Amino acid sequence: MEVIPNHTQTVAGWAAMNESGKIEPFIFKRRETGVDDVVIKVQYCGMCHTDLHFIHNDWGITMYPVVPGHEITGVVSKVGTNVSGFKVGDRVGVGCIYASCLDCEHCRRSEENYCDKVTLTYNGIFWDGSVTYGGYSNMIVAHKRFVVRIPNNLPLDAAVPLLCAGITVYSPMKQHGMLQSGGSLGVVGLGGLGHVAVKFGKAFGLKVTVISTSPAKEKEARERLKADDFIVSSNQKQMLAKTRSLDYIIDTVSAKHSLGPILELLKVNGKLVLVAAPDQPVELPSFPLIFGKRTVSGSMTGGMKETQEMMDLCGEHNITCDIELVSTDRINDALARLARNDVRYRFVLNIGGNSKL
Ligand code: NAP
Ligand code: ZN
Repeated sequence: MEVIPNHTQTVAGWAAMNESGKIEPFIFKRRETGVDDVVIKVQYCGMCHTDLHFIHNDWGITMYPVVPGHEITGVVSKVGTNVSGFKVGDRVGVGCIYASCLDCEHCRRSEENYCDKVTLTYNGIFWDGSVTYGGYSNMIVAHKRFVVRIPNNLPLDAAVPLLCAGITVYSPMKQHGMLQSGGSLGVVGLGGLGHVAVKFGKAFGLKVTVISTSPAKEKEARERLKADDFIVSSNQKQMLAKTRSLDYIIDTVSAKHSLGPILELLKVNGKLVLVAAPDQPVELPSFPLIFGKRTVSGSMTGGMKETQEMMDLCGEHNITCDIELVSTDRINDALARLARNDVRYRFVLNIGGNSKL
């Protein structure tokens, strides 16, 4: 174990040690509790597809050992002397952003996610030079600015995916005007991010269409998630029938695909937001773009103010995620199922045991 000054708190976690992708128990150290820090006893951690990308080094940037996990909820166990907003016992969470410079134009607008010194919750480099380790672990130390309060009515397990999946779709929805009712939204890929986008779309009064490769998801999408329409993307007849029908599309597909047929579903001037991050470039043919004056944009999670706003909104409207709880001895099974698109709709690691808070 590498020794870093001030990293004195022992943590039990789970890590991938190399590209084989197998997760195994891993003991490591976190920093001492600083004056601005909040210490969290981790109860739950969501398993995002990004964890799989990092575990398998899909993007070529993984620093092993990698402790994944950026959808973290738990209870505050200690606070630094300069922390007034949180106290021991509070229900809190940490998402994708672990630190940023706190001083640039983006940080000043609480767009910490676009700070060029942003530190991700795992596989990032923190201010002290250490590599960050994520929420597949029983304790995390986080700067108070990057800690989110979880509303009392939201269970810590079903709320945990909101910290990545939730904010990642909420932020572009807000930016592109989807919080106003009346528009039509297409959600491509019904997984962790996609199912939250459907729930948000319905809560904001949009007409929501799911565009999926999985016909087996149609019944659930319509009945449980209240989607208004469902298109199987490989069915050309269904796709053609919905040409120029949507104002917005959020694309969450984790594998290589073409945006061409999807763009045809947008009205003239429609907007597609790509939040997915496949390891291969997506295809972007020019004709559907230019003939429909359409826009393709991207979005990377959300800032801290916006994350709290989204969480509070979910509290008000009682929006939670559809999850499958996984015990820590089944991490590898769950990751294998996630890789073959066999999850409804987010695996959540039950790190704190079975005791519900
Ligand atoms: P997920 O739960 O695995 O869902 C992805 C969905 O994509 C699947 O449910 C499936 O939907 C579809 N899909 C999967 N493989 C496919 C294939 N080979 N061809 C076509 N469709 C396929 O993943 P997630 O956790 O929602 O994450 C989705 C993507 O977003 C990942 O690339 C992740 O890294 C990225 N992400 C980005 C951000 C950001 O800040 N921008 C944040 C979090 C995650 P159907 O069965 O309905 O087709
Ligand atoms: Zn994520």
